[in-house]
Amino acid sequence: MEKRQRMCIACRQMFDKKDLKRIVKNSDGQIFVDMTGKANGRGAYICSSKECMQKLKKQKLLNKTFKCAVDEKVYLDLEEKVARE
Ligand SMILES: [Zn+2]
Repeated sequence: MEKRQRMCIACRQMFDKKDLKRIVKNSDGQIFVDMTGKANGRGAYICSSKECMQKLKKQKLLNKTFKCAVDEKVYLDLEEKVARE
């Protein structure tokens, strides 16, 4: 059976995929918020709690997860998309 749960990179708890935001690093090294959940590349997931969003930004967890510099605007974009929901 396929597991549809993924781990939030901030709180490290498992959530249903649909309750998480996906951030992708594609093969060109571009990093972006994947609203479709279907973009090719390596994905990182974050739940929509405020605490996790703050931790993500403060500790630059995307930089750690993707092991590269992640533009500030990816964080801002993500924050904006979560806030809009
Ligand atoms: Zn979380």
